[in-house]
Amino acid sequence: MQTNFAPEQLRDPRVAEADRILKRCVHCGLCTAVCSTYVVLGDERDSPRGRIYLIKDMLEKRDEHAPSEQVRHHVDRCLTCLSCMTTCPSGVDYLHLVDAARAEIEERCPRSFKDRMLRRVLAWTIPYPRRFRLALKAVPLARPFIPLLQRFGFKEAAAMLALAPTSAITREARFGGAGTAVTHSERRARVLMLTGCVQPVLRPDINDATIRLLARRGVDVVVAHGTGCCGGIVQHMGQEKDAQYLAKRNIDVWWKEIGRGEIDAIIVNASGCGTTVKDYGHMLRGDPAYADRAERVSSLAKDVSEFLYEYQLGAPERWSSLRVAYHSACSLQHGQRIHDEPRALLKQAGFAVLDVPEGHICCGSAGTYNILQPDIAGQLKKRKQDNIRSTRVDVVAAGNIGCITQLTTGLDTPIVHTVELLDWAYGGPVPPGLEHLAQFVTDVPKPRRHVEDFIET
Ligand code: SF4
Ligand code: SF4
Repeated sequence: MQTNFAPEQLRDPRVAEADRILKRCVHCGLCTAVCSTYVVLGDERDSPRGRIYLIKDMLEKRDEHAPSEQVRHHVDRCLTCLSCMTTCPSGVDYLHLVDAARAEIEERCPRSFKDRMLRRVLAWTIPYPRRFRLALKAVPLARPFIPLLQRFGFKEAAAMLALAPTSAITREARFGGAGTAVTHSERRARVLMLTGCVQPVLRPDINDATIRLLARRGVDVVVAHGTGCCGGIVQHMGQEKDAQYLAKRNIDVWWKEIGRGEIDAIIVNASGCGTTVKDYGHMLRGDPAYADRAERVSSLAKDVSEFLYEYQLGAPERWSSLRVAYHSACSLQHGQRIHDEPRALLKQAGFAVLDVPEGHICCGSAGTYNILQPDIAGQLKKRKQDNIRSTRVDVVAAGNIGCITQLTTGLDTPIVHTVELLDWAYGGPVPPGLEHLAQFVTDVPKPRRHVEDFIET
């Protein structure tokens, strides 16, 4: 694609990077067919190619006028699912283009008071588990007002309340606080783990299952005090500075552990967060105080399924005849290009694994997208749930808390994290919500080791 930036415009690193990315696009349009918003809305401006043109025009004319509301409207409707990047034959780095566009829009295209307040509330609450837990406690009181909020145009607030769990979550993760879970087996690895912000509040069992499984199989798991949100939530709202602050906070804490020289990986079990941590190197490339450390942290980051696949878990301790639909989170399949590993791990653990039709289409979760764009998110959710129902499985497995939260309501089939099923198969407890399926999972008899065991008396 030909660009028309003046030399002085290209002195701005944001524009220079956008220029490099834009030039790779050959406007073939192959990305359009796989774009979740284009599939739902059918508008070229809500496709990757359409957005690329809008962003190009916005940046080329940035000296003449501020970004228009039209550009903001279509960029806001992008899920950052990155399905377009998987398909693009030219290797267009759409992620960093849309990140740059969002930052530009946030800085130069003021939003309405209502929109600004909503985004500030989300940015102030979600990345901080204590605040988030406190906010959830107020939900039961506010839930009866959902119809009223919808009627008076506060559909985002209504969506937020509808997404929150119906009963307050009081239990904290058993192992999720700071500390080290020391393996009782022969130690084969030592890892740092990101426990995240939303996940320990909404589903503490996921972090528990991850730590239990790793520690049982010879991995020391360090949860370093002071780590928290990866920054992805605010990054996707265009709040670049806030995202960098959260990234630096994690890097500072992890660096002390990495400096001791015994860390084999940084485990992330929410794929949206994993995609962000793997991008810290890029996010902080212009900061001389952090660039190298951020690059090192990104190189150590691994999704839990990626780590376990390379690590080789061996044979399971339980065997099941359960049928599992694997929902491939966009951040895992498109953001991190991890496709086969979770499926292979589940199969190795004895589950019959089925793919969800239209697996490349987003479920509509996408960070805060299901709050900020509830109509499109609702359509995508329904489409995904219909596709899941068509598989007629016992349980759904996914590797991202965002997808799990988005898909749970309205789906009869239980949905759990992949690692919860693996933990169960490798000796852990029944994942909450799957108690009715426990009868289909049986212990694998231990092999007899002594010749006396074979002598009948
Ligand atoms: S597939 Fe790639 S090269 Fe083709 S229009 Fe989309 S982004 Fe551009
Ligand atoms: S990130 Fe997803 S929603 Fe956004 S343009 Fe690409 S395919 Fe479409």
